[in-house]
Amino acid sequence: MAVTTDFVETGVASASSSSRPRTGFAQYRIVPARYPARTAGTLFALLVIGVALHSVFTNPRWGWDVFAQWFFAEPVLVGLGRTLLLTLLGTISGFTLGTALALARVSRSPLLSGLSWTYIWIFRSIPLVVLLLILNNLGYLYETVTIGVPFTGINFISWNTTQIMTPFAAALLGLTLNQAAFASEIIRGGILSVDQGQLEAAAALGLPRGRQARRIILPQAMRSILPTAFNDIIGLAKGTSQVYILALPELFYTIQIIYRRNLEVIPLLMVATVWYLVILTVLSLVQHHIERHYARGALRTLPPSLLSRLSRRLAGTHQTRSAVVATQVDRSVSIAPLHAHGGDVTIQGVSKSFGPLKVLDDVSLTLAAGSVTVILGQSGSGKSTLLRSINHLERVDEGFIAIDGQLVGYRQEGETLYELKEKDILKRRVEVGMVFQNFNLFPHLTVLDNIVEAPVTVRGLAREQAEREARELLARVGLADKADAYPRQLSGGQQQRVAIARALALKPKVLLFDEPTSALDPELVGEVLEVIRELSRSGTTLVIVTHEIGFAREVADLVVFMEQGRILETGTPDKLFNTPDHPRTAEFLAKVL
Ligand code: ADP
Ligand code: MG
Repeated sequence: MAVTTDFVETGVASASSSSRPRTGFAQYRIVPARYPARTAGTLFALLVIGVALHSVFTNPRWGWDVFAQWFFAEPVLVGLGRTLLLTLLGTISGFTLGTALALARVSRSPLLSGLSWTYIWIFRSIPLVVLLLILNNLGYLYETVTIGVPFTGINFISWNTTQIMTPFAAALLGLTLNQAAFASEIIRGGILSVDQGQLEAAAALGLPRGRQARRIILPQAMRSILPTAFNDIIGLAKGTSQVYILALPELFYTIQIIYRRNLEVIPLLMVATVWYLVILTVLSLVQHHIERHYARGALRTLPPSLLSRLSRRLAGTHQTRSAVVATQVDRSVSIAPLHAHGGDVTIQGVSKSFGPLKVLDDVSLTLAAGSVTVILGQSGSGKSTLLRSINHLERVDEGFIAIDGQLVGYRQEGETLYELKEKDILKRRVEVGMVFQNFNLFPHLTVLDNIVEAPVTVRGLAREQAEREARELLARVGLADKADAYPRQLSGGQQQRVAIARALALKPKVLLFDEPTSALDPELVGEVLEVIRELSRSGTTLVIVTHEIGFAREVADLVVFMEQGRILETGTPDKLFNTPDHPRTAEFLAKVL
């Protein structure tokens, strides 16, 4: 659209004599920039396409009339149907078995992990063709297939092997076994790509292991699983052509039968080629769609779907940059009194080493219910390890930690301590909330889902009630309008406030903060401290590792100074900050104040 006005046509002279006011750019004609190299490239591409099409359609040996005659012929379509069925079933069963193998592989049972490793080792080694032929001859090895209780002679049902191992069954089984070995490694790769912090956050919320895998790990793993998985599925779709050695008339075998009869080799191979192209195109579309689904939360804005891109192109409109209306953050964090009951924390003679390094050395500390404790100390002095021990994310070597008289991680019977099973540890974790330096929100879940997940799964709350409480919490941290946003769409300070709301949703007795503001830009620190400040009057016991001395002075009941795994000094903020007993404390304060 060229906007031409008098002004442009008559030139500068009339402009200087004209008294017409200039009203923005509407007066000027806009000439798009020229890109000669791009134009040359386009011409070259046209030439290549022209030559290719010319050769394909003028050389009679391609035999397009024969192609047209066979493309939709019934035997071809039946073969195509078999290929599609094998691909579909092979994908489903292969990836189901593959997921089980991958989970077994990362399991903590060495035997189970070893079994999975061996399976993968064997089935990745055997060429598919060999495997198919072995399965086809299974009747020679085992005359019958029996379902029963092993080693007891109790059998429920029995089949003749050659009867049930039809070529189709052998093909499906072979493709599945082969596919599962590769799929499991793809899935394991995805699992390994998920950030460790995600596991810790899920564990800190007390989510059961199965739920952690299904809800937190696998959906995030999908992003790196999908591209390779689709490579693999496409490989499978084409790999089904190998089952022709079982004389199973899938697409490729059918084509072979036909051209052996009519000797029109090339046209029939083209029939197969075009059908494989169609299959690949459909799979690529499906892949794009599924990838888009799992990109939610990983990208700030999703790429447009193919359909909307197409319709936009047809309509000839360009995406206009939508004006972002900055919603004013509700900074009046008016927090209704939280009727929380804090727990008291007893830490008694706790020591912990990582190899030769003693990270906690005979630490003893008592924190009253509802109190606020700030832990100070240089980097590496063991502050995080102490917090994580309170939550039993770390197991201590000596001593014990108790919350409201209940041992963390153990059950006491007389003089004996029984280590709790992970399931029970997770249940008790609910009493201790944790806020991490790096927030560790689940990026693939909305803000609301992040908060609702644990109350629903762990506390068994009805979803509506959990959502109502979550919205109240969000309002309390000043983020009522962000319930449906994904974490990556929020600023660091907002993410950390969501993380605090998430921890609060379980109504913990004790809330641990590990340097909650260290990852934030200075101007965002205030909004997070404001929320913690409000919490400090709520009755929950707070333990905060922070370098914000001013904040510590204001909210802390007790300040603890740690060095090299030991507590050097504890005291009220007044005492510790003004007249520290220990010279090392004074030295540290001089550095950070
Ligand atoms: P802080 O939080 O005070 O900076 P940490 O508790 O994180 O200190 O760490 C204390 C010491 O323990 C550091 O020297 C750290 O390198 C070491 N450490 C922490 N976790 C591990 C681990 N999982 N394996 C080995 N060393 C560790
Ligand atoms: Mg730390």
